[in-house]
Amino acid sequence: MEEPVPGDVQIFLSSKENCLSMRSVGADYMSKLVKIAGITIAASRVKAKATHVTLICKNCRSVRTVPCRPGLGGAIVPRSCDHVPQPGEEPCPLDPWIAVPDKSKYVDLQTLKLQENPEDVPTGELPRNMLLSVDRHLVQTIVPGTRLTVVGIYSVYQASTTYD
Ligand SMILES: [Zn+2]
Repeated sequence: MEEPVPGDVQIFLSSKENCLSMRSVGADYMSKLVKIAGITIAASRVKAKATHVTLICKNCRSVRTVPCRPGLGGAIVPRSCDHVPQPGEEPCPLDPWIAVPDKSKYVDLQTLKLQENPEDVPTGELPRNMLLSVDRHLVQTIVPGTRLTVVGIYSVYQASTTYD
């Protein structure tokens, strides 16, 4: 008998912890789960976010598939190709990879802008914002104006080379 093959699953977390203030979330919380409340002030259109990118070496045409960082992260692309050149072949240069978009794998992704609740903003200060990245079943469930309590991983968004 064949073993059943499990598909990808999406896990929703809930927490009874108190919410953190956006002002108190700093470097100590990097890559940790945080619970935050606020008001959604913007929702992006739905984008295709690559989870695995298929790359082809522009020199030897070898193909490899690399994973992408979760959230807004890009692909983890190796610098070099491990193809061993045969006599008469050019060795593969550094950074030889070209993404093949229609061979890559995607999920739906949306970004939301969460603003501090008015009651959490100290007098005379401007409200702070955070960018949320939601994917798959969470996409298109929230409209601007919605008060949210979210549990998520706090990270810094690096606008580097992304294949999405
Ligand atoms: Zn190559």
